[in-house]
Amino acid sequence: MTIAVGPRLLPMLSDQAKANLDPYMALIVGYRKSGLSLNHIIGCPLDCGYCVRHFWGNYDVKIPHLLCPTDQAIEQLVTHHAFQPHVTPIQLFNKATDPFLPGVKPHLFQVLQTLDQRGFTNHVLVITRFKVTTAEMTALEQLRHLRVTLLFTYSGITDPRIEPIAKSNTTLTSIRTAASHKQRTGVVLYWRPIVPGWNDTPDTMAHVLDAGRDVDAIVFTGYYHKPENADHLRNLGVAVPYAHDYARRKVLPADLDARVVAAWRASGITTPLFRKTSCGVAYAHAAPDYNGHWGVRELCDICPTAQRQRCADDHHEPTSADLDAVLAHLGYTTDYLIEEGHIWTRGLGEQHRYAIQHTLRHQIWELDQPHYLHAHGRSLNGHTTDPDQVSAIAEIREHFENTARYEDD
Ligand code: SF4
Repeated sequence: MTIAVGPRLLPMLSDQAKANLDPYMALIVGYRKSGLSLNHIIGCPLDCGYCVRHFWGNYDVKIPHLLCPTDQAIEQLVTHHAFQPHVTPIQLFNKATDPFLPGVKPHLFQVLQTLDQRGFTNHVLVITRFKVTTAEMTALEQLRHLRVTLLFTYSGITDPRIEPIAKSNTTLTSIRTAASHKQRTGVVLYWRPIVPGWNDTPDTMAHVLDAGRDVDAIVFTGYYHKPENADHLRNLGVAVPYAHDYARRKVLPADLDARVVAAWRASGITTPLFRKTSCGVAYAHAAPDYNGHWGVRELCDICPTAQRQRCADDHHEPTSADLDAVLAHLGYTTDYLIEEGHIWTRGLGEQHRYAIQHTLRHQIWELDQPHYLHAHGRSLNGHTTDPDQVSAIAEIREHFENTARYEDD
């Protein structure tokens, strides 16, 4: 089958079109949980039905467009106030296109080679489901400093209404190519989205796990269930689960998590399985998790012993002085409360919170969007909350409110 792949030479988006973009789409460098993210190319022809571009009005843009020249984008990235050489994890083209599309790929390599020539050793995450060749793996292997990880989105979906690329072997071939050439490049099978009714039968799970036999790590997760992508898929006749129970975070019910872990244990493969992207990426480079998930120990039950030791050795509970120093360095202010394994903050917003989290390699939580036990980073759909934890959070909230009420103006 033929998949539309877009042009080899990308057009620049007109000023008028830029002015009409959703601010999130227009943001070239922004902070996300997996790292500081560079996205100066937006638009994608691959037509995955659940695509997050539905949320920002960009889904109908099938031709990738440049928002600015790539050398300018690189300067924006390295001069961003939160960019720290060797520390800040970086993500390239993870929001609104696929970095290995023919027109996007030259820009991807320009960014990688420029950052590498500057001697930066930062993690760099590159998520794709497209074609990665031997020559491209050779080019990645020639990098000397950056710690690059390729994450291949593959979940065994076969319905072309959900994923047109599913009918081809493109992603599976890329995974095999990458796995057989990797030396210093991390290769992760990104098993997502796992959705009841789409790709959760035992056979499909066994097939995906087998596809991950030779990669460094498998990371699994659910999908963003929001009205925009659900309506699109339902209009195509696709059965979408979870009804109208829409949520800010990805959905992966506890029973589905348990079935994935059981399928992995039964598969006989030796590739480690992770619930968190940063855990799989860190493991691929023999580094501790840069998001400090060791502070949420329930996530670590499936992690290899050597990696658990790495995270345990790296973990330390920050003091107020540590946090104050990071806040001063980044120029942020927040009320905070240090608890074991995490620090509560308020009103920083994701952009700032993750910059602190990656600097301290420690969990930084937002009081107004609490994580719940056994549902870390997931929507509460399919999970029950612990009443004790809900009341503990209420107490912490009250503490914050009292502090805010009585602090000096
Ligand atoms: S020990 Fe826990 S935090 Fe560290 S990589 Fe494993 S799962 Fe992630």
